[in-house]
Amino acid sequence: MLPLLVTLSDLPPEGRHFSGEIRPDLFGLTGPYDPHFVPPLRYEVQVRRDDGDVIVEGTLEAQFQLQCSRCAARLPWRVLLDPYFSCEEQEGDTLDLTAQFREDILLALPGYPRCEESNVEPQPCQTGGGFAPDSAFIPLTGEEPSDAPQLDVWQALDRLPPAGPSPDR
Ligand SMILES: [Zn+2]
Repeated sequence: MLPLLVTLSDLPPEGRHFSGEIRPDLFGLTGPYDPHFVPPLRYEVQVRRDDGDVIVEGTLEAQFQLQCSRCAARLPWRVLLDPYFSCEEQEGDTLDLTAQFREDILLALPGYPRCEESNVEPQPCQTGGGFAPDSAFIPLTGEEPSDAPQLDVWQALDRLPPAGPSPDR
Protein backbone atom coordinates (compact mmCIF):
# COMPACT_ATOMS: atom_id res chain seq x y z
CA MET A 1 0.00 0.00 0.00
CA LEU A 2 1.07 3.59 -0.48
CA PRO A 3 2.10 5.27 2.74
CA LEU A 4 0.51 8.55 3.61
CA LEU A 5 3.49 10.89 3.47
CA VAL A 6 3.45 14.51 4.57
CA THR A 7 6.20 16.87 3.40
CA LEU A 8 6.75 18.98 6.48
CA SER A 9 8.41 21.96 4.80
CA ASP A 10 5.28 22.31 2.63
CA LEU A 11 2.99 22.80 5.59
CA PRO A 12 1.54 26.25 6.12
CA PRO A 13 2.07 27.72 9.60
CA GLU A 14 -1.41 26.73 10.76
CA GLY A 15 -0.88 23.18 9.51
CA ARG A 16 -2.90 21.13 7.08
CA HIS A 17 -5.94 18.93 7.37
CA PHE A 18 -5.82 15.28 6.28
CA SER A 19 -8.79 12.98 6.31
CA GLY A 20 -9.86 9.79 4.63
CA GLU A 21 -10.00 6.04 4.90
CA ILE A 22 -7.28 3.43 4.65
CA ARG A 23 -8.52 0.05 3.47
CA PRO A 24 -5.38 -2.00 2.80
CA ASP A 25 -4.14 -3.88 5.83
CA LEU A 26 -1.45 -1.55 7.14
CA PHE A 27 -1.06 -3.66 10.28
CA GLY A 28 0.21 -6.76 8.50
CA LEU A 29 -0.45 -9.04 11.46
CA THR A 30 -0.77 -12.58 10.23
CA GLY A 31 -0.20 -14.77 13.28
CA PRO A 32 -3.08 -16.99 14.38
CA TYR A 33 -3.51 -15.06 17.64
CA ASP A 34 -2.89 -11.62 16.21
CA PRO A 35 -5.55 -8.93 15.95
CA HIS A 36 -7.23 -8.94 12.52
CA PHE A 37 -7.82 -5.53 11.01
CA VAL A 38 -11.35 -4.96 9.73
CA PRO A 39 -11.12 -2.10 7.20
CA PRO A 40 -11.32 0.78 7.00
CA LEU A 41 -9.17 2.88 9.27
CA ARG A 42 -10.75 6.34 9.38
CA TYR A 43 -8.64 9.36 10.09
CA GLU A 44 -9.22 13.04 10.36
CA VAL A 45 -6.20 14.96 11.58
CA GLN A 46 -4.48 18.28 11.48
CA VAL A 47 -0.70 18.16 11.03
CA ARG A 48 1.44 21.15 11.99
CA ARG A 49 4.96 22.00 13.03
CA ASP A 50 5.70 23.64 16.32
CA ASP A 51 9.23 24.62 17.26
CA GLY A 52 10.96 21.47 16.01
CA ASP A 53 8.09 19.17 16.88
CA VAL A 54 5.45 17.68 14.64
CA ILE A 55 1.97 17.73 16.10
CA VAL A 56 -0.80 15.51 14.79
CA GLU A 57 -4.22 15.89 16.34
CA GLY A 58 -7.70 14.79 15.42
CA THR A 59 -9.49 11.47 15.39
CA LEU A 60 -8.56 7.89 14.49
CA GLU A 61 -10.92 4.96 14.31
CA ALA A 62 -10.35 1.34 13.35
CA GLN A 63 -12.01 -1.99 14.04
CA PHE A 64 -10.44 -5.36 14.73
CA GLN A 65 -11.26 -8.95 15.43
CA LEU A 66 -9.35 -9.93 18.54
CA GLN A 67 -8.96 -13.33 20.07
CA CYS A 68 -10.36 -13.83 23.55
CA SER A 69 -7.52 -14.51 25.95
CA ARG A 70 -9.67 -17.03 27.77
CA CYS A 71 -11.70 -19.07 25.29
CA ALA A 72 -9.92 -18.16 22.01
CA ALA A 73 -13.14 -17.02 20.32
CA ARG A 74 -12.98 -13.98 18.08
CA LEU A 75 -14.49 -10.77 19.40
CA PRO A 76 -15.01 -7.43 17.72
CA TRP A 77 -13.07 -4.48 19.08
CA ARG A 78 -13.20 -0.85 18.09
CA VAL A 79 -10.30 1.52 18.64
CA LEU A 80 -11.47 5.10 18.77
CA LEU A 81 -8.82 7.69 19.53
CA ASP A 82 -10.81 10.86 19.97
CA PRO A 83 -9.10 13.11 20.64
CA TYR A 84 -5.99 11.71 19.02
CA PHE A 85 -2.89 13.68 19.85
CA SER A 86 0.73 13.05 19.02
CA CYS A 87 3.72 15.31 19.42
CA GLU A 88 7.06 14.03 18.19
CA GLU A 89 10.37 15.62 17.46
CA GLN A 90 10.73 16.36 13.77
CA GLU A 91 13.12 13.97 12.03
CA GLY A 92 13.76 14.77 8.40
CA ASP A 93 11.26 16.49 6.16
CA THR A 94 8.81 13.62 5.71
CA LEU A 95 6.25 12.32 8.15
CA ASP A 96 4.79 8.89 7.45
CA LEU A 97 1.30 9.21 8.85
CA THR A 98 0.50 5.59 8.04
CA ALA A 99 3.31 4.32 10.23
CA GLN A 100 2.31 6.65 13.02
CA PHE A 101 -1.37 5.65 12.90
CA ARG A 102 -0.39 2.00 12.86
CA GLU A 103 1.76 2.28 15.95
CA ASP A 104 -0.65 4.36 17.99
CA ILE A 105 -3.63 2.16 17.18
CA LEU A 106 -1.76 -1.02 18.05
CA LEU A 107 -0.77 0.52 21.38
CA ALA A 108 -4.44 1.17 22.10
CA LEU A 109 -5.44 -2.49 21.70
CA PRO A 110 -5.96 -4.47 24.90
CA GLY A 111 -3.34 -7.11 25.68
CA TYR A 112 -5.69 -9.72 27.12
CA PRO A 113 -9.17 -9.09 25.74
CA ARG A 114 -12.12 -11.15 26.90
CA CYS A 115 -15.43 -11.84 25.14
CA GLU A 116 -17.42 -9.95 27.77
CA GLU A 117 -15.14 -6.92 27.48
CA SER A 118 -15.77 -6.29 23.78
CA ASN A 119 -16.62 -2.62 23.27
CA VAL A 120 -18.66 -3.50 20.17
CA GLU A 121 -20.59 -6.64 21.02
CA PRO A 122 -19.87 -8.03 24.49
CA GLN A 123 -21.00 -11.58 25.10
CA PRO A 124 -20.40 -14.25 27.71
CA CYS A 125 -17.17 -16.17 27.35
CA GLN A 126 -17.91 -19.38 25.51
CA THR A 127 -16.07 -21.86 27.67
CA GLY A 128 -18.13 -21.09 30.76
CA GLY A 129 -15.17 -21.64 33.07
CA GLY A 130 -13.76 -24.64 31.22
CA PHE A 131 -10.29 -23.27 31.74
CA ALA A 132 -8.71 -23.65 35.14
CA PRO A 133 -8.19 -20.44 37.05
CA ASP A 134 -4.64 -19.17 37.25
CA SER A 135 -4.26 -20.41 40.83
CA ALA A 136 -4.67 -24.01 39.68
CA PHE A 137 -1.42 -23.87 37.78
CA ILE A 138 1.79 -24.70 39.58
CA PRO A 139 4.56 -22.33 38.57
CA LEU A 140 7.53 -23.97 36.94
CA THR A 141 10.62 -23.25 38.99
CA GLY A 142 12.97 -25.71 37.33
CA GLU A 143 13.54 -27.46 40.65
CA GLU A 144 12.66 -31.02 41.52
CA PRO A 145 9.75 -31.26 43.90
CA SER A 146 11.10 -31.82 47.42
CA ASP A 147 8.93 -34.90 48.03
CA ALA A 148 10.38 -36.85 45.07
CA PRO A 149 11.29 -40.42 46.05
CA GLN A 150 14.90 -40.57 47.03
CA LEU A 151 17.09 -43.65 47.03
CA ASP A 152 17.93 -44.53 50.58
CA VAL A 153 21.07 -46.64 50.43
CA TRP A 154 20.58 -48.39 53.79
CA GLN A 155 16.96 -49.32 53.09
CA ALA A 156 18.04 -50.70 49.71
CA LEU A 157 20.68 -52.91 51.40
CA ASP A 158 18.08 -54.22 53.86
CA ARG A 159 15.96 -55.42 50.95
CA LEU A 160 18.72 -57.61 49.53
CA PRO A 161 18.09 -61.36 49.95
CA PRO A 162 20.14 -62.94 52.70
CA ALA A 163 23.54 -64.22 51.62
CA GLY A 164 23.99 -67.93 50.96
CA PRO A 165 22.02 -70.50 48.96
CA SER A 166 18.31 -70.12 48.76
CA PRO A 167 16.50 -72.58 51.04
CA ASP A 168 14.08 -73.45 48.22
CA ARG A 169 16.77 -74.92 45.92
ZN1 LIG B 1 -13.98 -15.73 25.62
